[in-house]
Amino acid sequence: MSGDGNGWEMVIGLEVHCELHTATKLFCGCANEFGAEPNTHICPVCLGLPGSLPVLNKQAVEYAMRIGEALHCTVQASIFHRKNYFYPDMPKDYQVSQYDEPINTTGWLELPADGDGGATRIGITRAHMEEDTGKSSHVGETGRIHGASHSLVDYNRAGVPLVEIVSEPDIRTPEQAEAYVKELRAILLAADVSDARMEEGSMRVDANVSVRRSPADEFGTRCEIKNLNSLRSLRRAIEYEARRQIDLIEAGDKVAQETRHWVEGEGRTVSGRSKEESHDYRYFPEPDLVPLRPSEEWKHDVRAALRPMPSARRTRLAGAVGGASSATDVALVVELGLDDLVTAAIDDGADARIAVNRATNEVATDLDAAATLDVKAFATVVKMESAGELTPTQSKTVIATLLREGAGARDPRTIAKEHGFEAMGADALEAAVDEAIAAHPKDFEDLKAGNQKVVGLFVGQVMKATGGKANGKEVTAILRRRAGLA
Ligand code: ADP
Ligand code: MG
Ligand code: ZN
Repeated sequence: MSGDGNGWEMVIGLEVHCELHTATKLFCGCANEFGAEPNTHICPVCLGLPGSLPVLNKQAVEYAMRIGEALHCTVQASIFHRKNYFYPDMPKDYQVSQYDEPINTTGWLELPADGDGGATRIGITRAHMEEDTGKSSHVGETGRIHGASHSLVDYNRAGVPLVEIVSEPDIRTPEQAEAYVKELRAILLAADVSDARMEEGSMRVDANVSVRRSPADEFGTRCEIKNLNSLRSLRRAIEYEARRQIDLIEAGDKVAQETRHWVEGEGRTVSGRSKEESHDYRYFPEPDLVPLRPSEEWKHDVRAALRPMPSARRTRLAGAVGGASSATDVALVVELGLDDLVTAAIDDGADARIAVNRATNEVATDLDAAATLDVKAFATVVKMESAGELTPTQSKTVIATLLREGAGARDPRTIAKEHGFEAMGADALEAAVDEAIAAHPKDFEDLKAGNQKVVGLFVGQVMKATGGKANGKEVTAILRRRAGLA
């Protein structure tokens, strides 16, 4: 594993299910609504009653196409299959899914640069449509089926449209796996197709993990880990599972391909069913649905209507800031959704580094209020700060006031004036520095002798004397000139 020095490498591929936030279910008119009273959004179609027939939801297809376009996939003609298996929360005893002719194939997404490394592309094998199952809850202390006194089933979720996004085994560390899920979530939100909430189950992640001694070796046997409800569980489960496999192999044993479950409380994975093969499901084409052939025109319209994706936004912002900020900061601004604000401020002549700093530190403290922040006002504060009209501390106070005042906030100059943040004239500043020097002659001798440590003392004195109005950088510059150091 990376880090522990004995050369093992992890190989990870993720399968992510996301629920589409369409108004209705995939094949019927029942409402697609999370958290409703159990079994209130059901009908003969989503209950699989004999004689009922599915009608494909156009909105769901369009959302699946958006995902395909956003992930640079080939969006193609597709068909639906029946995947046969028994599960009490799946009333039809088969799941309508896509199999060997899915709507989206072969795409990629780009992970943001992570400090030292550049951006990394992770391949997307496929992103296909399928229907969700219902939900069972097991009543008893454990909440699991073992030891439950009885089980309840809610079919509201049965037939909710899902897209399953399958990655290539291109991921190499738990951190990359987390970055992948975060990036995919950001893409799903930008494409406006899903709430993508892991806690609510509208985004569900399964992790396939194997290990090998060296990147030159063939892939090892993988296990698929289910039940990962948070990014933290995802990281911990991969870490644990890789360690388990390495220990097995080093002890001379073999890894068995199987489904495993993550037990959060115990911090380990436990064996589930042995991995079924696709022939176990007896897939066959769904006879009640016609093939799906999106027209070139429809695909074009879907592509054209997509909002810019996070990677494009990072590229745009990186161009606007130039070399002034790190790739990590650029990615953070986009993640916070503050890139429009920062780019507009820079276009308006604001200093890029200061704009990024104020966005990630001050504006980020209240993202709801940030949505009401006027771009011009933000740009004005940043420009005042870079011109030395506001000290960094004063600039932060003005931004906090703008955020507090919200949509109807006053002009930043008015706010600054009200706080008494008037720029000190150069003469007044020099006078304040000279006073401080006169009050501390010994320290000034030290400074002249090259002891830089006393600079802080002088800056502090001047700040106190001016009620915080002085610009620290300018004070330092004047001091150094007086001491003959500059
Ligand atoms: P299944 O139908 O059994 O789920 P898939 O072909 O859909 O199998 O692959 C599932 C996932 O497993 C994909 O995300 C893929 O990248 C990943 N994967 C395949 N081989 C390996 C491996 N050796 N180690 C880790 N992940 C793998
Ligand atoms: Mg699978
Ligand atoms: Zn229904």
